[in-house]
Amino acid sequence: MLPAKQRERPSKTAALYLHIPFCAKRCNYCDFYTVAEQEKHIPAYLDALVQEIEIYGKSELWVEQSFSTIYFGGGTPSLLAPDQVERILSTLRNNFHFTQNPEITFEVNPGTTAEKKLQDYADTGINRLSIGVQSFRADELKKLDRLHSVEEAENTVARARKAGIQNLSIDLMFALSGQKPSNWRYSLERAIAMKPEHISAYNLTIENGTPLHQAVKAGIVKPVSELRQRIFYSHTIEYLERHGYKHYEVSNYALPNFESRHNSKYWDGSLYLGLGASAHSFDGDRRFWNVKSFSQYIKNLQDGDLPIIGEENLSPTEKQFEMILLGLRQSRGVSIDDFENRFAIDFREKFQPQLKKLLSQKPPLAKLTNGSLTLTREGWLLCDAVCAEFA
Ligand code: SF4
Repeated sequence: MLPAKQRERPSKTAALYLHIPFCAKRCNYCDFYTVAEQEKHIPAYLDALVQEIEIYGKSELWVEQSFSTIYFGGGTPSLLAPDQVERILSTLRNNFHFTQNPEITFEVNPGTTAEKKLQDYADTGINRLSIGVQSFRADELKKLDRLHSVEEAENTVARARKAGIQNLSIDLMFALSGQKPSNWRYSLERAIAMKPEHISAYNLTIENGTPLHQAVKAGIVKPVSELRQRIFYSHTIEYLERHGYKHYEVSNYALPNFESRHNSKYWDGSLYLGLGASAHSFDGDRRFWNVKSFSQYIKNLQDGDLPIIGEENLSPTEKQFEMILLGLRQSRGVSIDDFENRFAIDFREKFQPQLKKLLSQKPPLAKLTNGSLTLTREGWLLCDAVCAEFA
């Protein structure tokens, strides 16, 4: 056993997430907590959100944190009017401490944002937009049940630039049923032509309970084979890296210094406070989450209660696994020094069988470089299986 050199609780800045569950329409693949055609409830929901912020604003733990990121996710946050966003941000500023120049990200769906609206968002202090483009092909957008057109996606990016947003992320999806590699390449080309600072490229997963899952079960949609998914993924990494985007996490690519600061907080074990229906929080030892119903969320807060519906305390073994999992999902890998300092465990000794298997496989799936365990290109393609070795 090595001596423990630091406290269990990370002493980093914290992250703040706000969930806005409303969407104009539900997409067939979506597994997030969202509700369609319920926009009339947005004002009551925001009242509840303000109430929740004010309750946590009296919590010693969260008041003593210094937050460096705010993220409005959904759902479709861009259904909110700029004055509603301003209200939330000013309530946050009145209740919590923020570092200078926090990263404030706002998810935007193309087709929900006129030029003036984006300008007004920027005026509230939002300095990063994550735009849910998904594809630059009309047939694929239709397949995904998306409401926006290719033209609206391109206009949204152009308007965001005009509004002075200098940190843009574009979301794309690959491995759609029947998608040709050349069509995926086309979306990547169109994306980088717009010079976003960040690209999230997700492998479409077919989640249980979604309409897409039903369609696959009924034989209406043919799923993409795992081998083919890996080919798409490999091309994505190679193509984006060749164009200057660093592959810094499984699905995320950034120009230098434009990694998502907010998501990096989740991955480096920082504390995060999630507000809104279904949002998750982590206080260093305990994860807890809110009720997955916007009406129950509103009711709880109207009654003066926090809408927490579940919690779990992580055992030391779970914390170790989580640190390895989150580390391996990033290009910087798992720092063995950090792991040993945190858990007072000899990493190489404890995980000797796993290391032997991963490092000696031909080709190897992981490597030890500068004191960190990182994935090789082959390891990235089998990331989930590699992580499972440490479970
Ligand atoms: S717009 Fe986004 S959050 Fe809303 S249903 Fe579609 S994928 Fe889900």
